[in-house]
Amino acid sequence: MKEKSKIWLSSPHIGENEIKYINSAFESNWIAPLGPNVDAFEYSIQQQVGVTHAAALSSGTAAIHLALILLDVKLNDYVFCQSMTFSASANPIIYQGAIPVFIDSEKDTWNMDPELLREALKEAKKNNKLPKAIIPVHLYGMPSKILEIVEIGNEYEVPVIEDSAESIGSYISNKQCGSFGKFGVLSFNGNKIITTSGGGALISADQNLIQKARFLATQARDPAPHYQHSQIGYNYRLSNILAGIGIGQLEVLNDRIKARRDNFKLYHKYFSEKNIKGFDIQFQEEPINYFSNRWLTCIIIDPITNAGITREDIRREMELENIETRPLWKPMHQQPIFKNLQKYINGVSDTLFEHGLCLPSGSNLVHSDFERIFNCLDRIFHKF
Ligand SMILES: *Cc1c(COP(=O)(O)O)cnc(C)c1O
Repeated sequence: MKEKSKIWLSSPHIGENEIKYINSAFESNWIAPLGPNVDAFEYSIQQQVGVTHAAALSSGTAAIHLALILLDVKLNDYVFCQSMTFSASANPIIYQGAIPVFIDSEKDTWNMDPELLREALKEAKKNNKLPKAIIPVHLYGMPSKILEIVEIGNEYEVPVIEDSAESIGSYISNKQCGSFGKFGVLSFNGNKIITTSGGGALISADQNLIQKARFLATQARDPAPHYQHSQIGYNYRLSNILAGIGIGQLEVLNDRIKARRDNFKLYHKYFSEKNIKGFDIQFQEEPINYFSNRWLTCIIIDPITNAGITREDIRREMELENIETRPLWKPMHQQPIFKNLQKYINGVSDTLFEHGLCLPSGSNLVHSDFERIFNCLDRIFHKF
């Protein structure tokens, strides 16, 4: 029976101290939304990312939404967004009644292509349709070409909201993902590298903006003894209990990154040996000075160069063994809800989606899990 227990793509991995911080909230009866754990968690996030201000929120999606509000994105404004991402990068644009324009990826990091971005901005400027914000993503933990993206944004005076939901702990030359843009966004959802079961953060070097984010996230209450509101507010704050989990999780972030990077190395070794035997399986490789937290290990397998083996062959065979894998994110410009919107496309994300597969990547995978995974892969590749 045990042999067939489910191997998950990425499951929560709690350390030793999380429960202590939760207990301290209980003991002090600080079950209310805000409290000392929230303050301590925000401080830890600032230390981790190297940014002076952070607001702990109920989700990464809420963080993107507040960033858009703070950048004054409203009805019929444009926002440029990476197409190859999870829908939560784009949905808040719609919440504001604004219009997403999707930008395709480059092959090196699988993230927003700076050249396509430049082309899109140039055209937008000509048509007097410059966007209010640009949302690049660091997919699966791999930093995007964020330095170029921010620079191009600066040329057109368009701020960058860095969707770092998947990339806490990743960096370029020691500068952390989430610290490059006007805003950085983190997620602590259950499937991410560290989790509060659900949660997120908005970070920025601008103290006023983060204070405003906290205000909007707590129902936009004006300072008055009665309830008074001169703006629309949101209930987007993280609770003091969940912030306790977050403090403990940040303490073990480096261990979690090491475990995920070790997973990547195991897969890389395995498939490199297959490549020597004539297959051609590709990875998301780190450019020089790039460091990925390796949240998920993903492969690209084109049947034309792999004896006809498809991504779906692997996914289905793994599923029979109760091993969870998943196709890469389906690009936003292919999603039924977004497909009629404007886009700048070069074919990269279409190919990634067609041939890409995310492999089990949890930091709590053990040796026997990998034995099962590699045995299953061996069966697929030995047919050839
Ligand atoms: C998870 C994720 C989000 C949303 O974060 P939540 O905390 O789940 O709302 C946004 N963008 C990307 C790229 C994500 O992976």
